[in-house]
Parts: sequence; C-alpha cells; structure tokens
Amino acid sequence: MTENALTAEEYAYYQRQMVLPEWGEAGQLRLKAARVLVVGAGGLGAPVLQYLGAAGVGRIGVADGDFVEVSNLHRQVIHTMEDLDTPKTTSAAARLRRGNPHVAVVEHMFPVTAANAADLVAGYDVVADCTDNFATRDVLHEACFALGRTLVSGAAQMTEGTVTTFAAFRGGANPCFRCLYPTPLPPEVTPSCSMVGVAGPVLTVIGGLQAMEVVKEILGIGGGLSGRIVMYDGLSAGFSEVPLARRAGCPCCAKAEGPHREKTKAQPPVTGG
Ligand SMILES: [Zn+2]
Repeated sequence: MTENALTAEEYAYYQRQMVLPEWGEAGQLRLKAARVLVVGAGGLGAPVLQYLGAAGVGRIGVADGDFVEVSNLHRQVIHTMEDLDTPKTTSAAARLRRGNPHVAVVEHMFPVTAANAADLVAGYDVVADCTDNFATRDVLHEACFALGRTLVSGAAQMTEGTVTTFAAFRGGANPCFRCLYPTPLPPEVTPSCSMVGVAGPVLTVIGGLQAMEVVKEILGIGGGLSGRIVMYDGLSAGFSEVPLARRAGCPCCAKAEGPHREKTKAQPPVTGG
C-alpha cells in the first residue's frame, strides 16, 4: 500500500466517479495527488470549489480578499446568511471541509496581485481563474505562463458566459491570454457584475464547465479547451464555440518557444476548433 493509496472511506466516497472508465482508481489517485488553486471564491468559485472538493482534489487553495456581503448570496451559493461579514476564504473552506473530509483546503485571504501571484501559483499544479476583473486575470495569466501552469479561465456577465484554457507555455499552437487581449482592457470596457448584473445559474453553468476542465487536465483525458472558447447564452439556452489561434508576433507566446523549465503533470492532446 503506497502512501497515496485510497482509504476504504475514500473508496466509498468516490465510487460513483471511479466507475467511469476514463476515471478509475488511477484517476482518483491523480486527483488526490493534485494541487489546484481557485482564485475567486465568488459566483464562479462557488461551483468550481464545491465540485473540485467533492471530486477529491487533494489540495485546494482558495484565494480571495473579500468578505461575504448580502448582495453576493443570490449567486455565490457556497456562502450563506450565517457567513455575512466573514472572509470568503473562511466561509468557502469551511463548506469544502464539511463536504469532504478527505481533501486539504488552504486559505489565501488576500487579493492576487503582481507582487504575490508567482509565489502563490508556484504551490499548485493547475489554476482556475474565477475572478471578475481584467487586472487580476492578467496578473494570474502572467504567473501561470511563467511557471508553466495550466489556467482554466471562466467569465460570466448578465446572462452569458465563456470558458477557455490557457496553456501557451506548452508551445505549439496553444494561444495565450495576450493573443486574445493584446492590450489591457480599461475598466469601462469590462463593467463589473455590480454594474450590469449577472444571473446566478449562468455562473453555475460556466463554473461547472471549468471544474470539468480542471479534472480533465489532471486526469489527462478528453480534449482540452486550449485554443477554443466555449460560449453560453443563457437566454437562448445555446452553446457556441470560437477557435482562438496563437496571434502572430505575440511577444508573450514568443517566450514559450524552446524547452520549458516546468510543466504540469497532465498534458492532454490539444484540440482545435
Ligand atoms: Zn500569445
């Protein structure tokens, strides 16, 4: 019995997913050994954190500097009225620990900035971007790119949402965040949910997709979302997909050429549009 072997309690907990042929005990052990950082314990973070915790990701980091407010609760369903005015990291971590005692949850109760992103990301294998502003996304992508960490990025606003994966450090055709946004977007172009609103169920759709992509990255199964953006329109109940190509002359991607110093464990095949 190896140190990482599953206990009888873990077998009982995870049996309905381990029966999946793509998953199995080997996949469960990979999840148990994995470290995933979720940045943002809000509307997207709520489903991402809860599904990754329940799925058995061995170490889950939750990073957020905010406190729970009553106006969060219609969409940030990991928090409750009892959590008002407590740090979102505290509330989310407590919920994960109640849900699954077999995972370790690490609280990072601070906003992710250029000053701390690299140190934070370095402790994890895969990162889920569940933030709500361009500046944090930019900083997070930069750290993930530099350290060779896959970034599964979700966004939602009003009645629509998108999800994609950035893994440009792998080189090849994998695009980066800067291929999508060559120049930083000013705040007026990316209004916050407090300004334009967001429908809670849209966040669960997008967050659910993100959680699945994170699991796939760890298990090394299926086709990832690097080079593809999945879009969900809640009003028409429709999904669409647009390809995201590496942008010629992207200075960020140019750095990815040549051997990379560190890669994530799982490297599923990259699929095009
Ligand atoms: Zn690029």
